[in-house]
Amino acid sequence: MQSNSTLSCTILEKRNETPNVFSLVLRVEGERPPFLAGQYLTVRLPHFEPVEGKSYSIASTPREKNITLTIKEMGGFSRAILAHEVGDTITTSLPYGFFYPEPDESSGLAFVIGGIGITPCMSIIGDLLEHDYQKPITLFYSNRTQADIVFKNALDTLAQKHSNFKIHYFITREPIQGRALNGQSVTYDRMTADFITANTPNLHETDFFLCGSIDFTKDMWKSLKTEGIEHTRLFTEGFF
Ligand SMILES: Cc1cc2nc3c(=O)[nH]c(=O)nc-3n(C[C@H](O)[C@H](O)[C@H](O)COP(=O)(O)OP(=O)(O)OC[C@H]3O[C@@H](n4cnc5c(N)ncnc54)[C@H](O)[C@@H]3O)c2cc1C
Repeated sequence: MQSNSTLSCTILEKRNETPNVFSLVLRVEGERPPFLAGQYLTVRLPHFEPVEGKSYSIASTPREKNITLTIKEMGGFSRAILAHEVGDTITTSLPYGFFYPEPDESSGLAFVIGGIGITPCMSIIGDLLEHDYQKPITLFYSNRTQADIVFKNALDTLAQKHSNFKIHYFITREPIQGRALNGQSVTYDRMTADFITANTPNLHETDFFLCGSIDFTKDMWKSLKTEGIEHTRLFTEGFF
């Protein structure tokens, strides 16, 4: 059943993205509401705290018929969602949120991402490229190990197909294993604002989208601002 403010979603597919991250492909009962790439849903689980639910960004693009949520197994709530199986129904809010670009207002976009923070950006980047966005898109994406990189194949395929999309991977807790991952640049160290500013085309006309844990997002926001990026060009979504 669908009310004015909730969606009833049936799980059509459940797939592993990494050892502890799973995608749920959801079919919305009734008409799927429109959304902007970068927005999220709040999932509500009956008899489960917090009663208001927890938020999960939409990883699929608005052009796709179904909605994909990609969830990292962390604590009680994410584990309870991921205990659902294909055919089960979950209830969510309508899509909302303000983490999306205005593509005409910059000369390019950069995404500064820690771990599972890739989810809204997968939707945004996919949507822009589906709409033939021609300006530079640069993804700076940090993970502990190569095995933790969510959507690696999909991202690499997009980068191979679109010359305006470049990826810089960062691996923080694994020994150096060579200089490139599928032809993309990789640094076996923490991401720094210095590296980001040196590798962003049209630096001062670029809008930056930062997403990951609250600490990651705060730290990157501060460091980029210290490097001279105008705060009006820094957009954040902290996962908590
Ligand atoms: C706008 C928004 C969008 C979100 N989108 C997604 C999404 O697409 N996919 C997804 O998996 N989650 C997403 N989240 C996070 C999600 O809402 C939950 O917070 C997350 O699932 C953890 O809840 P939990 O009850 O399972 O774990 P909790 O019991 O809350 O946390 C378990 C432990 O992990 C720590 N922790 C929580 N989040 C993080 C983090 N991001 N990085 C590092 N440590 C953390 C906590 O401090 C705690 O120690 C989003 C959050 C927001 C606000």
